Amino acid sequence: MKKNILNFSKKELEEFFKSIGEPKFRVTQVLDWIYKKKVLDFSSFSNLSKRLREKLEENFVIKTLSIEEIHESKDGSIKIAFKTFDDKYIESVIIPSKDRVTLCISTQIGCNIGCAFCNTARLGLIRNLYTSEILEQYLLSESIINKKITNIVYMGMGEPLVNFDNFLNSLERFISEEYFNFGKRKIVVSTIGIPEKIRRLADFEYAPKISLSLHFSTDEERKKYIPVSYKIDELVESLYYYYKMTNLPITYEYLLLNGINTSQQHMEKLYQIVSLIPKSKINLIPFNEFEGSSFSTPDVEEIERFKEFFKERGIFTSVRTSYGRDISAACGNLGFSLLKRDLVKRDLKRKS
Ligand code: SF4
Repeated sequence: MKKNILNFSKKELEEFFKSIGEPKFRVTQVLDWIYKKKVLDFSSFSNLSKRLREKLEENFVIKTLSIEEIHESKDGSIKIAFKTFDDKYIESVIIPSKDRVTLCISTQIGCNIGCAFCNTARLGLIRNLYTSEILEQYLLSESIINKKITNIVYMGMGEPLVNFDNFLNSLERFISEEYFNFGKRKIVVSTIGIPEKIRRLADFEYAPKISLSLHFSTDEERKKYIPVSYKIDELVESLYYYYKMTNLPITYEYLLLNGINTSQQHMEKLYQIVSLIPKSKINLIPFNEFEGSSFSTPDVEEIERFKEFFKERGIFTSVRTSYGRDISAACGNLGFSLLKRDLVKRDLKRKS
């Protein structure tokens, strides 16, 4: 099978070009076509010789994902299901708003963290995505909407810090001026939190904004609903390091689960945690109900009460608007429907 050129670093491509007798500057030309002009067809690289274009075709591909389904929500968000080269599915969501177009991307097929409130968790981990598959979600999504995507959030299927190396490679390509040139503040990684990886990310040249999916304010509750979870103390220590190294504010995501984590006591404990690092913010996420889940969303008054509590104490708190509820594109809803459909198909085939 041909290799995807998006998985190769500039240095690796320079070595390949040297081996076929081509000068270094040709690599810059190729990167320019892919990352600046976003042309995904070697035959259109018009400033390269025919021989070199053929060599590239012989050895590489640029696209391995294909678009399987596109669903548009009443609220303007668009969910795209991609099929991978090995017949698996991943999903991305485009969220247009007044002043930006945000793309929510996936980093794994399925996930093994096992969060009780997440539909993707029901798949288990099927495999990590390659760097190329993370980047292709962006390139193909932008080509569908014909508009510039301005922000990227790593909040789709999977835990980015588990697929660490490919995640870091994709960050470099998104943020570095040499590639897509988004800038650090336009990218957010949402993570359940792995202290050692948070520290390593803090030391990385292309560290983006980070959002910890905290959701519960005690270790016991976190462990109960997020089976693979670290102690809150350890997480906050690593986030403090992140804040010091990057000077980027930390966001805590808090899923509001009716009757489970919304009491006065929960608010007070959450306040203690959030006040440990200056400039930290809270993003409240009312739970998005899905078929088969046993959780429910608190009513509007309760969400407001929660928000006011933090506002009064000077903590910037926002309530996340859930886009794409009617197309199962909201937070925690991704991935299951297509894989389930595929499993049913395979099951029927086996039986017939
Ligand atoms: S919420 Fe995120 S980390 Fe948890 S199971 Fe779902 S995809 Fe994985």
